[in-house]
Amino acid sequence: MAQLLSGKIASAAWKEKIKTDVEKRLAIGKSRPHLAAILIGNDPASSAYVRGKVRDCEEVGFESTLIHLPESASEEEVLQEVRKLNGNPSVSGYIVQLPLPKGMDDKRILLAIDPEKDVDGFHPDNVGRMALGLPTYLPATPYGVLLLMEHYGLSTEGKHAVIVGRSHIVGSPMSILLGRNGKLGNATATLTHSKTPNLAEITKQADILIAAIGKPFYIQSEHVKAGAIVIDVGINRVGEKLVGDVDFDRVEPIVSAISPVPGGVGLMTRVGLLMNTLRAADGRG
Ligand code: NDP
Repeated sequence: MAQLLSGKIASAAWKEKIKTDVEKRLAIGKSRPHLAAILIGNDPASSAYVRGKVRDCEEVGFESTLIHLPESASEEEVLQEVRKLNGNPSVSGYIVQLPLPKGMDDKRILLAIDPEKDVDGFHPDNVGRMALGLPTYLPATPYGVLLLMEHYGLSTEGKHAVIVGRSHIVGSPMSILLGRNGKLGNATATLTHSKTPNLAEITKQADILIAAIGKPFYIQSEHVKAGAIVIDVGINRVGEKLVGDVDFDRVEPIVSAISPVPGGVGLMTRVGLLMNTLRAADGRG
């Protein structure tokens, strides 16, 4: 039976470590990390994500601030909040919850975020730093995947990692991180996407297969090699249920380790954000 890469177990362990780090900081007179979030409108999924992030902050001893703007807020009003947070020394880092309401220029808002406080790691300055291996905030989801693997003592060095999906927030940074010369890197990373012919031929070569596609149950048993490690980033709603990009029931019997959905990478993404905020409390470096 495959080892279950549980985001519940791994995130609880990482949060305990972060909590201890916060206590140590406070004991030597350092500041309490402070995460702020701007939420615009009432999208239920976005509201739930932000509530989860605020709860995480409470759990680990961070301060948190939620700035909730109405759906009708103008781009200028959002930018004003961004500027206020940039100039507020008590805020270590902040996020602007995506997606933004229709018509808002998300690039303009992203570029207005002070890269030193961009704990989502989406600002081009931080993406560039990641690519160059300079101190930065790693994008929370790929960072969370690395933290999940670290928790379970999985090594990536010398392995063939195949990533399916090349989005700017998941697949592309995942391939950079796994391929770079560093901790939980040194894999041979292959990045695939919707224009990749004969996908299964490539995924079947993977020692580590990471699915970030956004299509329920897309990865089937014929896509995986026996004994592979499979990490499912996908979160798809099918009826009332949340399911991954991997057909868990079919794939699990073949592989050596697999992350479930829900209870997998989603929880680790939240840990990635906490780790970035902890770092931000001392400056990005
Ligand atoms: P995007 O829609 O931005 O990207 C999807 C990627 O999958 C694209 O690169 C696309 O290729 C590729 N793709 C689509 N169909 C195929 C196919 N048939 N074969 C190969 N590649 C394909 O999605 P995201 O990266 O934002 O998210 C992916 C999934 O991860 C979603 O389910 C999302 O909900 C989930 N997610 C989960 C998070 C978590 O915390 N667990 C965080 C963020 C996302 P192309 O570029 O050619 O179009």
